[in-house]
Amino acid sequence: MAGSAYEMNEALLINPNNFEEQADTLKMAFHMPEQEQVSRNTFLQNRLERYNVEVWANEFMNALNEKRDVGKAFISEKMSKEILNNIGDSYNKAQKRLLFLDYDGTLVGFHKDPQKASPDEELYELLSQLQHQENTTLFLISGRDKQTFGKWFLPKKYNMIVEHGVWISKDGEEFKMLEQVKGDWMNKIRPVLESFVDRTPGSFIEEKNYSLAWHYRNTDPDFGEKRATELNTVLRSLIGNDDISVLNGNKVMEVKSSNVNKGRAAVRIMAEDDFDFVFAIGDDWTDEFMFQELPESAVTVKVGLKKTHAKYHVENTKRVRELLKRFTQA
Ligand SMILES: [Mg+2]
Repeated sequence: MAGSAYEMNEALLINPNNFEEQADTLKMAFHMPEQEQVSRNTFLQNRLERYNVEVWANEFMNALNEKRDVGKAFISEKMSKEILNNIGDSYNKAQKRLLFLDYDGTLVGFHKDPQKASPDEELYELLSQLQHQENTTLFLISGRDKQTFGKWFLPKKYNMIVEHGVWISKDGEEFKMLEQVKGDWMNKIRPVLESFVDRTPGSFIEEKNYSLAWHYRNTDPDFGEKRATELNTVLRSLIGNDDISVLNGNKVMEVKSSNVNKGRAAVRIMAEDDFDFVFAIGDDWTDEFMFQELPESAVTVKVGLKKTHAKYHVENTKRVRELLKRFTQA
């Protein structure tokens, strides 16, 4: 829809707080041929007709009801003091412990620029304590690329699984491939994501070795969500028989090979030894694979208040760190 009111709306979305930018866009609009002005105005008028006060009120009430129902969807239990104590006890008693810790949204909060969500000193301290604990195997498990994690954690010799399970590094060794994956689908999907970047100011593509991610944290929130839903539909119709899947993360939509996920990776590691305490914690949809695939005896924890297969949930990253501190006291 070149030159339409739709496009003008989008132009205004570039930065709602930048009045100069908006004024420029409006100036452009005033110098527009009359026919164009009429067509743009008609579009807006039609929208106003459709989206009247009744429709708006209905949508508002529906959204309110949905929020209320979110509470009912829980099957996980909030991590109470008592539960924490019990878990702490089994941790202390265990002979061989295995910990899977997601990074973004779990150990650290989100940042507008993912590269800036780097680990702080307190986190390094905490992880190193766990890493050096006897009979404890620690794994950072993330969808991130190996370059970033290599830079942050390789010098610390933490065990890592990155890109959802494609690469693994143990004891500070270089990354090895954990799962053989193909990447030929990427040339088909990349242009689609690019077209969404063009039409969604503030969004961008992150390219990893075997996955493509569309980030929309910096977009106008409502607009970003709408575009994400749209992209989801487009991608699902495209992937068809390819062995790839679409993951909806926190303000990120990721397309990757289906035979790679955190659950599969975690189960593989678990099978390498006789672990009697297995723990997994994470905040988004990609962590659900772990929660589902690890055995019933595993302690699984979701960060945040979303529907989950995890046994327990904690509210935020601050609580995660408190929980892990508890482990360091073993
Ligand atoms: Mg996460």
